[in-house]
Formats: sequence, structure tokens, C-alpha cells
Amino acid sequence: MRQDRKRVIAFRDVRRRTKKEVTFIISDTSMSSKGLAVWKDSFDNTVFLDADNAFWGIGPFIPRDAISLYEKFKNRLDREINDFRFSTELSAIYIDPTDRCNARCPYCYVPLKTRVNGRSMSTKELDFILGKIQNYFAGKKRKPVIIFHASEPLLVKDAVFFAIHKYHRHFKFGLQTNATLMKKEDAVFLMRYRVGVGISLDASTALINNRLRPDAANGGNFKKALLALDWLDGYPGLNVITTVTKHNVHNLPQMVKFLHKKRVPCVLLNPVRLTQKNSRGLKPDQDVFANNFIRAVDTAMALSKKSKYKIIVGNFANVILAIVAPTARRLMCDISPCGGGRCFFTITASGEMIPCGEFIGLKGFSGGNIFKDSITDAMASPAFKKIRSRKVEAIEECDTCALRNICGAPCPAELHALGGMRQKSVFCEFYKKIIEHAFKVIAQRKEALCLRSEGLKNLQYQYALA
Ligand code: SF4
Ligand code: SF4
Repeated sequence: MRQDRKRVIAFRDVRRRTKKEVTFIISDTSMSSKGLAVWKDSFDNTVFLDADNAFWGIGPFIPRDAISLYEKFKNRLDREINDFRFSTELSAIYIDPTDRCNARCPYCYVPLKTRVNGRSMSTKELDFILGKIQNYFAGKKRKPVIIFHASEPLLVKDAVFFAIHKYHRHFKFGLQTNATLMKKEDAVFLMRYRVGVGISLDASTALINNRLRPDAANGGNFKKALLALDWLDGYPGLNVITTVTKHNVHNLPQMVKFLHKKRVPCVLLNPVRLTQKNSRGLKPDQDVFANNFIRAVDTAMALSKKSKYKIIVGNFANVILAIVAPTARRLMCDISPCGGGRCFFTITASGEMIPCGEFIGLKGFSGGNIFKDSITDAMASPAFKKIRSRKVEAIEECDTCALRNICGAPCPAELHALGGMRQKSVFCEFYKKIIEHAFKVIAQRKEALCLRSEGLKNLQYQYALA
């Protein structure tokens, strides 16, 4: 089993001193030089952080033994983070078995024309692709992950379920769906094959959700998604993906409460990507988003503490991991370079290999076609290399930002569509605020409440001065 490393430096006497709220003042995150950045909080406590290797500590001052520890570990941590950030080992492949979708979400990154007229893979084509992927990964120790993703994969349910049945010994599978076509026996099938299931649901009420996730048949996916959650009842491989826009941003804490009642173990509260023009008018105000996101995280922690069912906010868990165990992160958007074309890529319904699904509507990012080109060639293609070369050190403002390797400045596809990928994230202020909250949670020693219990078991201390 993989063991990830956790790092902690915090000082017992500080914990006693900070029974009241810890409010780190990290709004000014710019650093002029490399090394340790230091912030003071209102109780005169200190957070210090090396932005390049994520060595950090919290205390009233930087004690000598912390500095010795830093000097001892610095080179090793630099190497570790560099390997993590720049390795090009594939661990997952997203497959869009169809371009078509039965929903009309206003912010979708797949252009409407493609969702209406796009092609679908046949069972034979999907079989061919998985056979090719199986050959590529032959001899690798870890099972690669295959995720069936956008548009709506259950439109070609027969092909997808055939593939899961045939290849379940070779791959771990995941499926992202709006659940409108799911039946009870499908949920049973997915659980039997231990498929990770992501249900797209944007709000705790039909009124808000169906405005953002409309479909012709039902007015929206609310009712069907709830049925699916009931069938999947607490399944550990279940998560809900909520795309946050100005229309549902105030609903995030209620959404967490609602999903906790449904025994959903994980929700991702992802900012809407502004890659396609249609989504740009839906961007939530960053302050409002951060405040509601933090309230949602705090709600999840309080519910997890007092009940026997835990719910985590997956993208906040990743921020916590980015601080306490950076190489244990599983989500790939807040790493720079991001995971697109590096740790995973996407195969579209016509077989195009693109660095990430977010590039589907953008020209010039194909690394080849799986029906005639190799995965090795796609990984070495100029399109994939371009995404891998985008790093925070080469982006103005991010290059001096102390949080650069926690935030990662996503997303290159979105920023490319907005004029150029070498610019800071459109959600920069949001990320700063939630990272500040993550430090606060860690200072209060509540980070375990934000992480999956199974994930926690895989963490071992690399160093600790607590
Ligand atoms: S940052 Fe954007 S391109 Fe990179 S993995 Fe995330 S969605 Fe894909
Ligand atoms: S986008 Fe992220 S890394 Fe860049 S300045 Fe903003 S918080 Fe820092």
C-alpha cells in the first residue's frame, strides 16, 4: 500500500495560546526571495512556509530546532516536490465515450454543437481503446484508473458497462454522470465492480439545481440524482460534484447538510470554469464564494465530528494535503504544472487525445488520435508539452506568491481561452482565502476532520516537532 508523507511542525505552547480564533494575515503573500516566508497573526503567532518545498510551521517564533530541521530536510523536500511536480508518469485516462449529452448545463465546457451532434464510440471501438491502454500500462505495479466522463457516458451505457465488466481486473474505473439515465440495477452493477461514481448535482433544492442542470425530459436532474444517491446509499466510492456559479454560491453550506443526510462521503465544490463564453456571466464573486465555501467546510467538519458519517469537501481536503502532505494530493488542478497531459489525459469520442477534457472545445491541443497514434507519441506531442511547461514560476505575480505550490494557479485551458495561459488564476483571491482557512484548521488541529479516513491511514510522519 502506498504510504504518503505527512509533515508537521507546530508547537504545543502555541496551541495553548491560540484557543481563540486563529486569524493568519496572509493577504500579502508576495515574497521577494526564495526561502521561508513569514506571516504574523493577531496573537503574534507565526506561520512560516518555504513556497518551493512546502516546509511549514506555526508557532510564536521560529525556534532554533525548526530551523535545524529545515536545513536538514530542505534539499530532500526540494527533490521530492520537483519529482512530484514534473514527473510524467500517467496514472489515469479519462474517456468520453460519447460527445452527446441529454442535459443543457449553461456552463458546460463541451460546446453545445458537439453535445447535440457529436459522435459516440461503439462497443468495439471502446474495447480497442482499452486494449491499447492495457498494453501501454503492461508491467506497471499500480492499476491505472479509467474514468468515463463528459458529456453523458450513460447514453452509451451498454458499451461502458461491457468495458467495465471485461477490464475490471486491469483497471480501476470511475464514472461521472448526471444520473438521469441511471437505474437501480446500474447502481448495483457499479458498486459490485467498485466503480467510483461522481454524481453531478449543483444545489440542495430542485429550483436552484434545475436552473443550472436542466434537461429536456425532467426539467433538470434533481429528482433522478436524488434517486441515484439513495441507491448508492453511503457507498464509499461515491462523490458529488457541484459546480459553483453565482446562482448556487449561497447554497453551499445547505448543500453539505443535505448531502450529509444522504450519506454522501465526499463533495467537490468546484468553481465554474470560464473556458467557454457561455459560462463567463456565471462567475461567482470571489469573496462571496470564499465565505460560503468556508462555511460549507466548517459545516462538513461539524457534521463529521458529531455524527457517525463523515462528509468531506474534496477540493478543500486537497488544499489541506497540499500543506501537510503535498505529494499525497489526488486532485491535479492545484499542482503546477497541473495533471493535464502529465498524470492523465482525455480521449474524446472521436479518439482525439487531449491533455484534459477542459481543452475539448479549444483548437490546437490534440496529441494525436488513439485509433492510429500511440499513447507514447501523444505524451511527447507539442500539445501535451505545452501544458506541462506551464508552471507558476513563469507566471507574473504567482512567481513571487508564497502560496504558489498550494494553489497551482489553475486552469491553463480556461486562461488560454481568456487570452493566454501564462497568467494567474481567475480565482486567485478565492484560493488565497481558502488556503488561509486551511492553515487555520491545521493550527486548530482539526485537519483530520477534513480528510478521508482511509487516506489518513496511508499518511506517516516524515518529520514533526509538535
Ligand atoms: S487545471 Fe484545468 S487543464 Fe489542468 S487538470 Fe485542472 S481542469 Fe484540466
Ligand atoms: S493564482 Fe495562486 S499562485 Fe498565483 S498569485 Fe494567486 S494565489 Fe498566488
